[in-house]
Amino acid sequence: MTGGPHGPWSEVAPAQWEDWRWQQSRRLRRPAHFEDSVGLSEEERAAFAATTDAFRTSVTPYYASLFEAGNPHCPIRMQALPQAGELVTHPFELRDPLDEEAHMVAPGVTWRYPDRVLFYVTHNCPVYCRHCTRKRKVSDPGSAAAMDSITAGIAYIAGETAIRDVLVSGGDPLSLSDERLAWILGELQNIDHVEVLRIGTRNPVTLPQRITPELVDVLRSVRPLYVHTHFNHPRECTDRAALALNMLADAGCVLGNQMVLLRGVNDDPETVLTVNRWLLRHRCRPYYLFQADMAEGITHFRTPLSRGLEVVDYLRGRISGMGVPHFVVDLPGGGGKITLTPDYEVSREGSEITFRNGTGGRFVFHDVD
Ligand SMILES: *Cc1c(COP(=O)(O)O)cnc(C)c1O
Ligand code: SF4
Repeated sequence: MTGGPHGPWSEVAPAQWEDWRWQQSRRLRRPAHFEDSVGLSEEERAAFAATTDAFRTSVTPYYASLFEAGNPHCPIRMQALPQAGELVTHPFELRDPLDEEAHMVAPGVTWRYPDRVLFYVTHNCPVYCRHCTRKRKVSDPGSAAAMDSITAGIAYIAGETAIRDVLVSGGDPLSLSDERLAWILGELQNIDHVEVLRIGTRNPVTLPQRITPELVDVLRSVRPLYVHTHFNHPRECTDRAALALNMLADAGCVLGNQMVLLRGVNDDPETVLTVNRWLLRHRCRPYYLFQADMAEGITHFRTPLSRGLEVVDYLRGRISGMGVPHFVVDLPGGGGKITLTPDYEVSREGSEITFRNGTGGRFVFHDVD
């Protein structure tokens, strides 16, 4: 797919379509916006009404244009429109599954690992993903990060020499203006002990028009800058998205993808393989494959842990190690991330270990003491 205006938006002038401010201002937010363009099923209508207070709905025309017409289970649609599954609650679900608030050491700063912090700078995103792990605050204006709290967060980071790596997150940091973003990144870069800066953003997927020449000029001046994005499905892999990735890579950003494994969206090894091949072609390395969290209202998206293991096992036999992400579970209660790997050992007799490889062959390896 090209990612240009088509379907209900075929009359939109290309220059408008390319303008990220136009895309932002024309986001589909109310049921009528969807009824008039992509339509709503009875179930979606009901889920929409029931979820408005808990987690807002917002979809850029660009992302909505990736919906497959006539498919109520379209994987793009499922990530963007409220569904009945969100209304079902389970006793094991958690409001703050990763205990980020308890690990907050300063406004917006979550410090869980020895050398790095997560820095929350905005509650806004162009599209609110129905599977978002931070649903409790993302989209909620009451969780906006005010200028003075961002300043306080930066001051905290400046005072803690153990922090080498700052992951600027939200919400989506590219929801901020170029000026605000340049200021935050500049302040962080001026801190001697901060060696690595990262931005977590889904804009290349949901609003690739936001990656403008002006923005990449800001990013170009920050070194080293890692940009983590979030492609989940081949329909998101458009020519337009590829252009955004290539502009970021040309500006010297090191690109990584953090995919979330979602039932009915990408819980199939071939789908993941297709996305990962495309990502490598556009200089973005698959970094993490996340098990969906125990957040409230997203259990319908979760797959058994065994599915994630099957996916990475399948990839290992078919794509370079560069295309095989770590399969990660972020443990509830702030336990942090752990990686799960398929078991390749078939049997062991003394120092002789029999392994299977990615395509099912058996091989004996002699270990040493
Ligand atoms: C995920 C996460 C990070 C970054 O983890 P990496 O494994 O280094 O990518 C840092 N802080 C918090 C709180 C996180 O949840
Ligand atoms: S872009 Fe990220 S923070 Fe925003 S709704 Fe999607 S998953 Fe949540």
